[in-house]
Amino acid sequence: MTSAAPRDDLVCCPVCDALHTLDATPEGRRARCIRCNTVLSSGGPEAMMRVVLLASASLILMTIVIFFPFLQLRQGVFTAKASVFDTVMSFSQGVMAPLSLAVGLFIIVLPVGRLTLLIWALGPLSFGTSPWPGARFALRWAERIRPWAMAEIFMIGVAVALVKLADLATLTMGPAFWSFAAIVAITAFQDTQLSRHSIWTALDTARSTR
Ligand SMILES: [Zn+2]
Repeated sequence: MTSAAPRDDLVCCPVCDALHTLDATPEGRRARCIRCNTVLSSGGPEAMMRVVLLASASLILMTIVIFFPFLQLRQGVFTAKASVFDTVMSFSQGVMAPLSLAVGLFIIVLPVGRLTLLIWALGPLSFGTSPWPGARFALRWAERIRPWAMAEIFMIGVAVALVKLADLATLTMGPAFWSFAAIVAITAFQDTQLSRHSIWTALDTARSTR
């Protein structure tokens, strides 16, 4: 029996599990899965810079989401405004309190946490400087949080509610609504740009050359 040594050049496609042997990706080029076209690796710091910039943009938009009105309802002389913070706090009394906590956690705390961890881990690398302490730890947690940051699920819920409310009252979407929609789109795009293989390779190289 021969024991196989761990190989750094073997990459498994995160979508379809096809195995590839991958050499260093040239600057500005991308290696894609031969079966499903998922980006496996992207060369150069530009890809990382793009992820950092997108994450920073989402983080700035998140402040608009928290502090500006999300929806306005008008029905005759009655007007009601709600921010995301109001939405989160609307369950804060009695037995529903844990729900308030969960909603706040999933739609604000975890997405903000993930963006901050990503910027912390990749920011210095994208500028070509050595990574900040704990960069590997931050990246690992950004990956771990990923399935739990559910801003887009919240938006789907809002969309369903809007369809149901549209007949009952006049609805106006506030700046927070559009910011939230933008964050969902940016995050989806950012995740396609983020190639785990190249980021971990870059972190490893940066550490070993220090
Ligand atoms: Zn694939």
